[in-house]
Amino acid sequence: MASKPCSTFFTFPLLHLVMLLLLPLSIHSHSTQHQEPFKSLEGCHKGQTLKGLHKIKQYLEKFGYLPHHHRNKTGSGDDDTFDDSLESAVKTYQLNYHLNATGVLDGKTLHDMALPRCGIPDIVDGRSSMRSGKKRHLGSMHHTVAHFSFFPNNPRWPPSKRQLTYGFLPGVQVIGTQNLRSVCKSAFDRWARVSHFTFQETQNVNTADLKIGFYRGNHGDGSSFDGPGRTVAHAFAPTDGRFHFDADERWAINPVTGAMDVESVALHEIGHLLGLGHSSVPEAIMFPTILVGAKKVNLHGDDVQGIQTLYNTP
Ligand code: ZN
Ligand code: ZN
Repeated sequence: MASKPCSTFFTFPLLHLVMLLLLPLSIHSHSTQHQEPFKSLEGCHKGQTLKGLHKIKQYLEKFGYLPHHHRNKTGSGDDDTFDDSLESAVKTYQLNYHLNATGVLDGKTLHDMALPRCGIPDIVDGRSSMRSGKKRHLGSMHHTVAHFSFFPNNPRWPPSKRQLTYGFLPGVQVIGTQNLRSVCKSAFDRWARVSHFTFQETQNVNTADLKIGFYRGNHGDGSSFDGPGRTVAHAFAPTDGRFHFDADERWAINPVTGAMDVESVALHEIGHLLGLGHSSVPEAIMFPTILVGAKKVNLHGDDVQGIQTLYNTP
């Protein structure tokens, strides 16, 4: 009677199958470490060849700014040439992050690329975008420009699914279970207040609509985590329901220097679970970079507009 059954572990083959079907929405990863800053590349621009530039290409590829097959296919090493397509990708990145869109790898651009962030690409399948390539006007009277985005083809939960259940996957134990449940509940409550959804925790993670867990490295969903730094979490678009934290990060329940706040990240990833892509409003919860040592748990008007537009609710 002392041991509890652990049947939830055996959901993985099924999840893997589902993952294969949904691969276009997941990120491409080469599981390279991105701990080292790109400092030596500062000032690099089109026409130059500089050792290490391929890491910028990998980064931009991972987050949707370069096509996945951009890099050479010969296997003879990575390409360190700053070509036209890299310049164009850097400009798009700079536009999304409110940087000077010069196409030059200046210090601020390299700094932003080194920040911890969500693993979901900013541009999914070359289609969804943040600030670049779109201006969504909401009402000609106000000339309001929204910066939220959706996944390609606007996947969302069907109208019959207003009550979503969530559960916790076994994964890696990083945060005490009670603390994790408590902050996730708080994050779900925040989305419930501005949407037509309600969220209910269930003990049976197998049947839960939304499945939350901590994993490290390659954990079988085609989107490997990258060790400490850079990618800290990811979640899949509706109606997949998987939401993973990178277990190799430092996590905390309240702001702690050098640690990621669990609730802040949960709030962002729940946005993806519901169908939101990344926003280019830095104050929005759906902005891709994650603050370290701070709490960011207030949904921004842009987040609220995004969810209400996707589901056509007031
Ligand atoms: Zn994200
Ligand atoms: Zn994952």
